[in-house]
Amino acid sequence: MDTQKTVLIVEDEKNIVDILRFNLQREGFGTYEAYDGEDGLKQAREKKPDLILLDVMLPKMVGFDVCRALRDEGDNVPVIILTAREEETDKVLGLEIGADDYITKPFSMRELIARVRANIRRTSMATAATAADAAMPVAGNLSINTDSHQVFRGGQAIDLTQREYELLTFLASHPNKVYSRVDLMEQVWNYGYVGDDVRTVDVTVRRLREKIEENPASPAYILTRRGVGYYFAV
Ligand code: CA
Repeated sequence: MDTQKTVLIVEDEKNIVDILRFNLQREGFGTYEAYDGEDGLKQAREKKPDLILLDVMLPKMVGFDVCRALRDEGDNVPVIILTAREEETDKVLGLEIGADDYITKPFSMRELIARVRANIRRTSMATAATAADAAMPVAGNLSINTDSHQVFRGGQAIDLTQREYELLTFLASHPNKVYSRVDLMEQVWNYGYVGDDVRTVDVTVRRLREKIEENPASPAYILTRRGVGYYFAV
């Protein structure tokens, strides 16, 4: 299940913000709102939305300058320009400064939502492809991108918790070496005293196997050395 996608609405006309917020939330998006260009830029930096709907004529800083500033900072968030005018120059300028799309007011909500979805989908596919390409193969069809903290099975990203990721990368970076549950609590969980908590290791290993193994009942990557502990087989 994907985490909720968020859209930052930068628009100074409150009634347009209201209708955008209502429709985006009804379609399952989270929303942020800014009523001028400076606040829009600030929220884009802080909240890292999945997409920005950006009006052109805004108080304090026009939409084009907001978009240009984000691109200059290397931020590739998809931006859809909302232009009030039919003028061709607005559209051309918007695309030249790095906007991904534009939509002319008044717009149909159905079309706007379709554009929002298409632009978010295109970006996340491109990001996933880049991360998968940069991932290091570790064993079988399993690969890890330690920059993005993502794990891939056959090029498909696997959704791991931070602890599952840390356990996997720790074991995979010491292939075929067997670690006891106490070792793993100390190395991966950084716990000094472990006591009964070693069960946590078993539970985490089981969850990890369910996510990375073709057949979790007969694992190929994380194996058990009975009475000793776990190891990553290569
Ligand atoms: Ca405006």
